[in-house]
Amino acid sequence: MVQILDGKAHADRMLEEVRASVEARKAAGSRVPSLAVVLVGEDPASQVYVRNKVAACARTGVRSIERRLPAAATAAELDDLIHQLNSDPDVDGILVQLPLPKHLDAKAVLRRLDPAKDVDGFHPVNQGLLFQGQKGMRPCTPSAVMNMLKAYGVEMKGKRALVLGRSEIVGKPMALMLLEEHATVTIAHSRTMDLPGLCREADILVAAIGRPGFVEGAWIKPGAVVVDVGINRVEDLALGEKIFAREPRKLETLKAKGGVLCGDVRYGEASQVAGAITPVPGGVGPLTIAGLLANTLQACEAREAR
Ligand code: NAP
Repeated sequence: MVQILDGKAHADRMLEEVRASVEARKAAGSRVPSLAVVLVGEDPASQVYVRNKVAACARTGVRSIERRLPAAATAAELDDLIHQLNSDPDVDGILVQLPLPKHLDAKAVLRRLDPAKDVDGFHPVNQGLLFQGQKGMRPCTPSAVMNMLKAYGVEMKGKRALVLGRSEIVGKPMALMLLEEHATVTIAHSRTMDLPGLCREADILVAAIGRPGFVEGAWIKPGAVVVDVGINRVEDLALGEKIFAREPRKLETLKAKGGVLCGDVRYGEASQVAGAITPVPGGVGPLTIAGLLANTLQACEAREAR
């Protein structure tokens, strides 16, 4: 019987831990951690993400500071704002919501952040610390996934792990974190040959490619731990009929609502073979915000310890 890795429940536990720590800080007369969220422009998806992050702050007692700039803001204006937040002693974490409008260079903007406040873990200093296996701010999604795998007692040492995807946000840091836990890690990407063959060898398979139902059940090694990071919306009925052949409820939702969310792995097929698997939604998705709040608390504590 496959074990469902319940990311939602684990995220709730992580948020509860942050809430309890914030509460304890308050009781001890310490400062309440704070997170500044910077949103440039009016991108509707980004507005939803920012709203969710602010709501998670409220839930844990972390103070949120929303700073908005118009879509036409210049690089100099954004630099000024980041400089202001970097030097504000009451700000522990700074998150610049991506994507930025096209005329702004996200990498250059992220380099302006004080690495100690870079709660997304995207600054080159934090990437370097991760590379060296040192303590620093780590990208929220992979670090919360690792936190969950450990909580479920997933053995990583000596296991073959395959990470599908090599983005700086998920794939690469995920691979480094698995390596740190002594897994034998392979990173696959769009130019990789014989993906099904590589998947069949993986004791731990992390899919982060953004392709609905790309990984078939027949590719999964029996008993493997499958972590599906992908979040995709499927509207095409022909595609849905193919990838949801073993998930009639998803197909029904697609037909009834004209769209449905799914991961990169064919959950219905994979869950017949895997030992453990994350669902989509309710798997990795909720973990990212939990990771962000955990990083904000960590940033606050680390700044005080300096
Ligand atoms: P990304 O930056 O677009 O990177 C996708 C990666 O997948 C690239 O490395 C790409 O290879 C690889 N890829 C694409 N098509 C492939 C194929 N057919 N075969 C093998 N590899 C392929 O994506 P991302 O930001 O890492 O996100 C990946 C997915 O995770 C998306 O669905 C995203 O929505 C989701 N996500 C979820 C969360 C969460 O909170 N749960 C957080 C972040 C992302 P190349 O490098 O060769 O192009």
